[in-house]
This record gives sequence, C-alpha cells and structure tokens, in this order.
Amino acid sequence: MQKLNKEACTGCGACYNICPMEAISIKEDKYGFYKPVIDEQKCTNCGLCEKTCPLDNYDSKNNPPKAYALINKDENTRLKSASGGAFSAFAKYILEQNGVVYGVIWDKNIVAVHSRATTLQEVEKMYTSKYVQSNTLDTFKQAKKDLEDGKQVLFSGTPCQIAGLKSYLRKTYDNLITVDLICHGTPSPLAFEKYKQEFLKENNEDKIVNLNFRSKKRGWGSFYTLIINTDKKEYCIDGSKSPYLKAFGNLSLNKSCTNCQFNKIPRIADITIGDFWGVDDYDKTLNDKKGLSIILVNNEKGQRFLKLADNNIKIKEVPFDVVTPKNPNIYTSSKAHKNRTEFLEELCVQNKSLKYCVKKYLKTPVHIILYRLLPNCAKDFIKYKILKMEK
Ligand SMILES: Cc1cc2nc3c(=O)[nH]c(=O)nc-3n(C[C@H](O)[C@H](O)[C@H](O)COP(=O)(O)OP(=O)(O)OC[C@H]3O[C@@H](n4cnc5c(N)ncnc54)[C@H](O)[C@@H]3O)c2cc1C
Repeated sequence: MQKLNKEACTGCGACYNICPMEAISIKEDKYGFYKPVIDEQKCTNCGLCEKTCPLDNYDSKNNPPKAYALINKDENTRLKSASGGAFSAFAKYILEQNGVVYGVIWDKNIVAVHSRATTLQEVEKMYTSKYVQSNTLDTFKQAKKDLEDGKQVLFSGTPCQIAGLKSYLRKTYDNLITVDLICHGTPSPLAFEKYKQEFLKENNEDKIVNLNFRSKKRGWGSFYTLIINTDKKEYCIDGSKSPYLKAFGNLSLNKSCTNCQFNKIPRIADITIGDFWGVDDYDKTLNDKKGLSIILVNNEKGQRFLKLADNNIKIKEVPFDVVTPKNPNIYTSSKAHKNRTEFLEELCVQNKSLKYCVKKYLKTPVHIILYRLLPNCAKDFIKYKILKMEK
C-alpha cells in the first residue's frame, strides 16, 4: 500500500477499480489531483492494489513505432477534433462493429471524466482535448465486462491511464485496441475549476455549457478556447491570454507528469495519437490548416487496426525522426516549472486567484521584455548572431 502514497501516483484509478473490498476511493489531493485514498476499516491488506499499480511494474513490449500523418476523410468531424480527427475515425470503425468506445467527455459540470459510448452521439462528446486530468471512474471495470462479453473495445486516454487499464486487466484481449495520447501532462482539476469560476465572475455569467480548448475557428494550432454559456453566447479566448493555458506549460501539471514512466519509446498503447507539430518543416503540402494528426503505430495489432479503419482516413507514412523534434512528449516527460509547488500552494491551499498566481509565477524575464521592445532589424541581427554561435 506504500506505493499508493507515492508522489509518482498518476491517479489512473487501477487500484480503485481492482479493490475487491471497495476500500479505495479516488479523491482530490490538496492541489486538486485525483489520488487513491484507502479506508483502513475496509482494507484486508490483500495487496492486490499494489500488484495492480502500473508504476515500476510495467514495461512495454511494443516495437519502435511507425509514424503516419493522418486526416479524417470527413471534414466536418475533423474540424470538431483537436488535430486531424484520428480518434473519431478509429471510434467510428469500432461503432460500425457494434463495439464500445471509451474516452473523455465533459460531464454536466464541465468536469473531465472517462465515459463509455456505443453511439455516435455519445462518441462526439469525446471529441477534442480536455486539458485537465480526467477521472477514469469505473471505466476499467466496465471495459473488462465488455471485453469478457466479446465486444470490440477501443479505450483511449493518457499513457498512464492506458498503463493502468492494462495492468488492471492482467491479460491481453484480441478484441481490445488501446489508443494513448502524446501527452504534455495533465493540469490540476482544481486549477481548472478556479479558471471556470473566475471566467463566470468576470463575464457576469451563470454557467458554462461547453468548452473547447482547441477551437479551429481561427485554424489548427491557434489554441483558441471557445466557451459557450447557457444562452449559447460564445467567448473566444486567445491561448496566449488565457491564464489557464499559460499555466498548462508547466506550472499546473501533476507531479507524476514531470517524471512520467509512460511517456517513452516503446509506447504503451497499440496506437498513439497527437498533433503533427512541425509538419511545415517536413512537407508543407500536408498542412491545409484544418488539422493534422500524427499517429504512431506501436505493434502488429495497431497495424492491423489501421488497415481495418482505412475507409475513414487518409494517411501517409513519414520518417519517425521528423515527428519528434517539435513533440518531445513522444519520448520524454515535461519538466516541472521551477515555481510549480509555490504556484499550486498559493492557488489551491491559500486560495488565491488563478490570474494573480499565473502573473506572479510566470513573470517574463527582463531580457525577453527588452528583446520584444527592439525593432525588427535588431531582432534579426540577434537571431543571426545566435545561429552563428550555434554553428
Ligand atoms: C492533457 C493533454 C495533453 C496533450 N499533450 C499533447 C502534446 O504534448 N503533443 C501532442 O501532439 N498532442 C497532445 N495532446 C493530444 C492532442 O491534443 C489531441 O488530443 C490528439 O492529437 C488527438 O486529436 P484527434 O484530432 O485525433 O482527436 P480528438 O477528437 O481531438 O481527441 C479526443 C481524444 O482525446 C482524449 N482525451 C481528451 N481529453 C483527455 C484527457 N483529459 N485525458 C485523457 N484523454 C483525453 C479523448 O478520450 C479522445 O480519445 C494532449 C492531449 C491532452 C488531453
């Protein structure tokens, strides 16, 4: 049980799902991250939770991946997705087989939770990135039942959640396909809650009914947050002006994300999906600005699945080494910001506002402020000097 108390705990929920005594619940810690809590009265010390914890227990047997640029053939669906719509294309294929899809939705309070879907309407709620730690709830148990019933199952989530699921299942299933995200790390659900509350107060609104961190109203990669209130009024917030997205890189991340055991090659899932950042350096013609996925196919099963879902997608194989330079989370963790703990302490424990904490702990260094004030010719000269030095 000591393992469950480790800082490295990702909150994947495998221990909660496996406990036969229902002695484990998932609660928010002081910074708002989901962590297991054990009820000593119910615990029989069977040790199953420790055995099921994927930390230090899990080595992927996958191959070095093959990489593909991918777009979903259905343009409407692609526009609703964060990247090229890889997830929706795979999910559609599973639904066509009368299968079940697991992924992350906003619940009625705009809290990110894992959910089970058997219809397109339910799957649509899973589209696009919810940049916050999701609660996996009972989905590992539900997925196991679906697998035992012989249904085709697609389970998607962060690499640690997929590791948790696999560890929980304890055997391989031919009817399971796992899809993990290239993952920068997950921010604190409490930081997100504070963001929503501050937004409502500032704009004199009562309720958020939908939120999209990856609105494509201004193109793919713009990181515009679209917030919709009860009267369908839309707010479009530039990522560079959103205190929440500013904190995402890397003040508000879970501690376990800053030393992640699962962001590595070989990857944990059958297929990994992400944004094809840096595509223009490789081949500009692939980028129509409507969204492009990079997918990594990590084993034979993933390769077979890609072929089966062929009707829904357009793909092009690309060399693996062109996708890593702009997307380091394919093979490594994000680093914690040096002010991470102080930031979370002041935000979550001392209950200061997100706006105030971000301003305080993400101060722009003086040399960057001065650089921004320079005329363009001086900026070009500095860039030229730096390039020369690097050579
Ligand atoms: C916290 C987080 C960090 C990310 N970091 C990177 C990164 O550094 N580089 C990169 O290339 N891509 C990253 N992504 C992935 C990227 O944002 C897209 O989700 C991915 O490219 C899939 O896009 P899509 O168009 O195929 O499908 P979409 O329909 O846009 O994606 C939906 C998929 O994301 C899953 N999902 C959404 N929110 C969560 C969540 N909170 N937890 C677990 N799963 C979730 C859904 O279950 C579904 O499988 C990150 C995503 C998240 C949630």
